Amino acid sequence: MKSVAIAAGGKLTLQQSSMPAIEARNVVKQFGSGTHAMVALYGVSVAIAQNEFFTLLGPSGCGKTTLLRMFAGFEFPTSGTILLGGDNIAALPPFKRPVNTVFQSYALFPHMSVAENIAFGLEMLGRPRAEITARVEAMLTLVQLSALKDRRTDQISGGQAQRVALARALAPAPKVLLLDEPLSALDYKLRKEMQIELKRIQAQTGITFVFVTHDQEEALTMSDRIAVMSAGKILQVGSPHDIYQRPENRFVASFIGETNFLTGMVQASKAGVTTVKLQDQMTVGIASPRTLAVGEKVTIAIRPEHSALNNAGEGLKGHLKHIVYSGTDTQFHVQLELGETFLVRAQNRIDQMASFVIGDAVVIALQANAAQILAE
Ligand code: ADP
Ligand code: MG
Repeated sequence: MKSVAIAAGGKLTLQQSSMPAIEARNVVKQFGSGTHAMVALYGVSVAIAQNEFFTLLGPSGCGKTTLLRMFAGFEFPTSGTILLGGDNIAALPPFKRPVNTVFQSYALFPHMSVAENIAFGLEMLGRPRAEITARVEAMLTLVQLSALKDRRTDQISGGQAQRVALARALAPAPKVLLLDEPLSALDYKLRKEMQIELKRIQAQTGITFVFVTHDQEEALTMSDRIAVMSAGKILQVGSPHDIYQRPENRFVASFIGETNFLTGMVQASKAGVTTVKLQDQMTVGIASPRTLAVGEKVTIAIRPEHSALNNAGEGLKGHLKHIVYSGTDTQFHVQLELGETFLVRAQNRIDQMASFVIGDAVVIALQANAAQILAE
């Protein structure tokens, strides 16, 4: 949202722009017609800010690529609009949009060198030779591939091919870069490295990134904001912290991280605070924008690491069913007295080794603000 510009007097000024870089308004996409009709997007609206690292996150088939292809101009909405910098770009073909795509398959030209691949888009645009040479050098430096510039792209590693694809897409200086699962072909370690690289390159260039992934950890670590998608709809948009700590519905809560779901009964609800009784054993005060009816049944989500296991005291009572040790932490599966199960996760601190055994009667204490009411 922020950009630094050099004013006429040579002084640095901070410009704020609230105009989204790219936006979808009520976008519906239907493939085919009649009995073969298939709706891929049901009225999706989202506004992506300038300079943002924005991620579309959701399971396979939820419509991420379809939305990205409409931003790129490879597909057109059945209804609704796509705006770029506030302008309706429905009529613009892909090559006239200041938008570029990094495809999952990279789609490099194997018979060309690294440098030739990066130069390709600039040549198509008919840029002057000197500009192309300078731009290719700058991109090689940006993605740290200067040493390999004359190598054919069928003679480089997967991680290097990924960097070439990125440099080629960035070379024409698009306003928006679309990345469709660009890291999915890389092994775990390389993927982790490229996540950090992509963040650095995005920050360095200031270009808006729209990144697609089905990997929740990747989305949480890389994004300024995330849109969680399911079955052709955006269910929630927010910062990684919002999405993880304050999921609004069961799908978001269960798709991202592990979550306990409990049924609760509303005891009181007013002015942003709802008191809910859990398991007929304890009441929790929960911040909630909605006022709910007393006696209403609600679903409560609680993250396993926001709870603790005790031998006695206030909390949810149950018995230890399983203990799973996983190095950094231990997971305790608790069978609650009234039928539901609950997962508690505790960090394995050297000074606080837990001494619970399977079958122990336990009490689960909840941290303040741990509980979240879900809309279903
Ligand atoms: P994602 O990228 O999230 O995995 P897609 O956007 O590729 O999902 O696909 C969303 C849905 O639309 C899927 O059910 C897919 O089969 C369908 N779909 C995508 N493209 C077409 C097409 N050209 N014709 C028919 N159905 C399509
Ligand atoms: Mg896809």
